[in-house]
Amino acid sequence: MFCIECGKEEEELFKGLCRSCFAKKSILINIPPEVEVEFCAHCSSVHVGDKWLETKLSEEEFIAETIVQESVPDEDAEDVVLEIDPINQKGSLMEMLVLAKGKVLEVPIEREYKINVKLNRNVCPECSKYASGYYEAVLQLRADDRPLEVGEIQATDKIIERLLEKLSRSNRMAYLSQRAELKEGVDYYFGSYKAAKKISNVLKDQMGGTLGESPRLMGRDKSTGKDLYRIWISLRLPCFQKGDFLSYDNHIGQIIDLNGRKIIIRDLETGENLSISWREYSNLEVAANRDDVKITTVSSKTPTEIQILDPETYQPLDLDIRPDLQNINIGDEVEMVKIKGKLYILSSHKNKGVDN
Ligand SMILES: [Zn+2]
Ligand SMILES: [Zn+2]
Repeated sequence: MFCIECGKEEEELFKGLCRSCFAKKSILINIPPEVEVEFCAHCSSVHVGDKWLETKLSEEEFIAETIVQESVPDEDAEDVVLEIDPINQKGSLMEMLVLAKGKVLEVPIEREYKINVKLNRNVCPECSKYASGYYEAVLQLRADDRPLEVGEIQATDKIIERLLEKLSRSNRMAYLSQRAELKEGVDYYFGSYKAAKKISNVLKDQMGGTLGESPRLMGRDKSTGKDLYRIWISLRLPCFQKGDFLSYDNHIGQIIDLNGRKIIIRDLETGENLSISWREYSNLEVAANRDDVKITTVSSKTPTEIQILDPETYQPLDLDIRPDLQNINIGDEVEMVKIKGKLYILSSHKNKGVDN
């Protein structure tokens, strides 16, 4: 049998051609003459099919990937690989050189193609929501029966900033679209309800208080016909803070810690710690403020009693000594608080912060 192209005699012919003439005629791969890609101008999202997806690829890598996706190897071709490099770019038009290597009937083949790539820059839906100030949830930070303190607002701002930094790595909508400081508290507008919920749980965990949630109907989505809701989350910090004094049951105690689960007070009579659940919130009463703490001097001491000067009247007062205050000496300064006419020694001022 003879090859109809070169006339060479061969045992086996392919569509009338010898092995090498057949391989030479092969196109190896069908490459589209033109490719269009769409990038978000603000983030790393790309438009693929009818979806916007985030990509870790560079623009060049994504273009190469698109070319590979849209190319179809010839049915006789095997082991086809593409090397794709940009040749030049003018505005939104890019020219790419594609070098295809493969085998046809075990004969190595190389082909070169030029492709025009059209680069479209647009705004992905998430970036356009961000740009328009879109939000799904509002977190309202309030304090019960009192204004928020500057320190509480600063602590909240810091926690939110830190969490958003973390959450936004996996959730593009985890952004703060607006922060409004009002007379009654601070409103935080979040792009993502899920992120807002996580943040409010962490805040409650660290600062205590009570969480509430209510959806509000905002209208109707014209494209889907669905009702549009936004969620208002309220975090109400307690009427008291660490350092304040509470009366609870028969106890008077100073708050030494509070978190999302419990309030811990140190009983001023016994010096022992008491853990109180937030369910008891309505049974707690603020007995004194941490600003009511005064400093005075120990004027005399016996094994059972301690004498201090009332910081208001300068009258000496005798108090029963608590076991945990045994190491206080005459002349020491102590912190004290007056609640309902009664004086309580808190700790030795000198040893403040040290467990005594
Ligand atoms: Zn031939
Ligand atoms: Zn975007």
